[in-house]
Amino acid sequence: EIALKGVAKRFGTTEVLPPLDLTFTAGAFTVILGPSGCGKSTLLNLIAGLEAVSGGEIEIGGRKVQDLPPRARGCAMVFQSYALYPHMTAGDNIGYPLKVAGVPRRERMARIAEAARVVGLGDYLARRPSELSGGQRQRVAIARAIVRAPQVMLFDEPLSNLDALLRHETRAELADLHRRIGATTVFVTHDQAEALTLADQIVVMNAGRVEQIGTPADIYHRPATRFVASFIGHPP
Ligand code: ATP
Ligand code: MG
Repeated sequence: EIALKGVAKRFGTTEVLPPLDLTFTAGAFTVILGPSGCGKSTLLNLIAGLEAVSGGEIEIGGRKVQDLPPRARGCAMVFQSYALYPHMTAGDNIGYPLKVAGVPRRERMARIAEAARVVGLGDYLARRPSELSGGQRQRVAIARAIVRAPQVMLFDEPLSNLDALLRHETRAELADLHRRIGATTVFVTHDQAEALTLADQIVVMNAGRVEQIGTPADIYHRPATRFVASFIGHPP
């Protein structure tokens, strides 16, 4: 479980997230849905430790992590822009977190092969990112995230650079991956359909605040606010 207790974020004098209490259920696939600029990436970056909280506490699996560096938090993150190392092969990109963690080469190779198999990348391990399609690059990024068997997977709009067909395929694969590895997952998107198909639980955000938390059916059929109704495109 991930618990945010009074977590707030300011950039200078601008309060991007007012103090927020939020719980992400262990093993569940939670989608944070909201319009551009509402604070989704900021929230994810606070959990991952890429940004420091301005106040409050973050617990992951009962452990307070807000003062720990990203590496000590047990989270893996996948970004919209893939953020692969261009000079490394796909295999080396996937194995990089293991290398940093000091995992011996032989074990690294086995775990790279396994992660690549899970995302269907087996044939492309020797290629560099520039020799891969957008969808293949995103698979490398996902394989790199799962290679350390993280307890927590954080996704920041990982599919928004893919074309419609690939987005649908990759969406289905992500759902399947989650069923198999069962990590606590927080997935950020502004895409309503993506949220409704992937989520166990949806958190709808607007301007730094939580508008509604519920199952896809709750959010779709019983929007709690006008904002949720208009954003989901389903009148209350
Ligand atoms: P998008 O869907 O466009 O990615 P988002 O919901 O992820 O949007 P954030 O990136 O979290 O939104 O940004 C939330 C707000 O915080 C925005 O108003 C943004 O301008 C502001 N912001 C984000 N990062 C910084 C920063 N480093 N310094 C100042 N303001 C920032
Ligand atoms: Mg964002």
